[in-house]
Amino acid sequence: MSTTSKDSAPGTRAAPDARRSTMKAVAVRPGEPNSIHLRDAPMPSLHDVPGERGVLVRVLRVGVDGTDKEINAAEYGKAPPGDDYLILGHESFGVVEAVAPGVTELVPGDCVVATVRRPGSSPYDAIGLQDMTTDDTYYERGINLLHGFLAEYYAESADFLVRVPSVLLSVGVLMEPVSVAEKAIGQAFEIQRRLRVWQPKRALVLGTGTLGLLASMVLRLRGLEVVAMGKTPRPYLNADLLEQIRVRYLSTQDVSIAEASRMHGPFDIIIEGTGFSPLVFEAMDALAKNGVLVLLSVTGGDRRIEIPADRINQGFVLGNKVLVGSVNASRADYMTGVSDLAQAELAHPDWLDKLLTHRVQGLANYRALMDTLITGKDTIKVYCEVAEQ
Ligand code: BGC
Ligand code: ZN
Repeated sequence: MSTTSKDSAPGTRAAPDARRSTMKAVAVRPGEPNSIHLRDAPMPSLHDVPGERGVLVRVLRVGVDGTDKEINAAEYGKAPPGDDYLILGHESFGVVEAVAPGVTELVPGDCVVATVRRPGSSPYDAIGLQDMTTDDTYYERGINLLHGFLAEYYAESADFLVRVPSVLLSVGVLMEPVSVAEKAIGQAFEIQRRLRVWQPKRALVLGTGTLGLLASMVLRLRGLEVVAMGKTPRPYLNADLLEQIRVRYLSTQDVSIAEASRMHGPFDIIIEGTGFSPLVFEAMDALAKNGVLVLLSVTGGDRRIEIPADRINQGFVLGNKVLVGSVNASRADYMTGVSDLAQAELAHPDWLDKLLTHRVQGLANYRALMDTLITGKDTIKVYCEVAEQ
């Protein structure tokens, strides 16, 4: 807390100095491994956004994940045209500092999270479903062709901001990963309307990092029995956290997916987010009749394996099973995420806070942020506290 003016409303501050032309930001030079650095970048302004829809957001917290790791390793990510650097950060949480005249839905002091992907040119993009784009080029803030949020400020159209109630202040930085879980689960339910009377009882979540934990939570809120599987044997913090919300944790070191299915299945819905693609085929084999398997892992490698192709195929055909991929999230998924985070806070107070395991203070500690992400022990969510409320 440094520059809050005494007479401003709670949660707001004096407007940033209009003459200020730069801000601090954490960026990489795409193509150059381990190029993470702190730099001065142009100060964003409401005028950067067309149609009087601009919102200037002061960044409070930004989470990092495997995608940021890959971007810093120069395995992924592109700079915006004309720049040789990319400001990192796609998991944002901030407070509205100023709005343009065409913005009626947000006021200074509101907490907001920004969606990640911006529209391209496919018909899906035109109806706000850029997460479903069929374009080859996709635009994602902090990832591909657009600067991210790991900076003091960003400007964005109100169309791409979601208000987060202040009761979620401490956990709002989880909104982006929650949105990815919401899309996955929302898609599964949407697809299963084909069955008219689908009543899923049992779910399996593969992968127990932030995404797996959040997906398990959402499935519990939907009333399903949930089994979650991860590599790590107990004692394991994530296993304890899962048990607190009555999710059964099994380590893949002790039990195979087939065994888990025999003991606790059949699974009507399986969410795969381990990053280890061979598990996809084991999950296909273990899926219940009429079940749905959602794939979330962005696997950049070129791993090859042998699989019992006839058996898996036959199981799918005779069992009317569905396999679907899911990336990113729509604005509606963020809205569902807000409701579910609020419900989770009520049902399991402090549970979400426990996911925020590693906080790194200030943009200047970008090196510690990346090191913690890569080599930190017992990490669930690593995030940068860019500024205090
Ligand atoms: C992000 C998504 C994004 C995906 C692919 C993930 O880390 O959370 O929003 O669509 O990477 O770039
Ligand atoms: Zn991500």
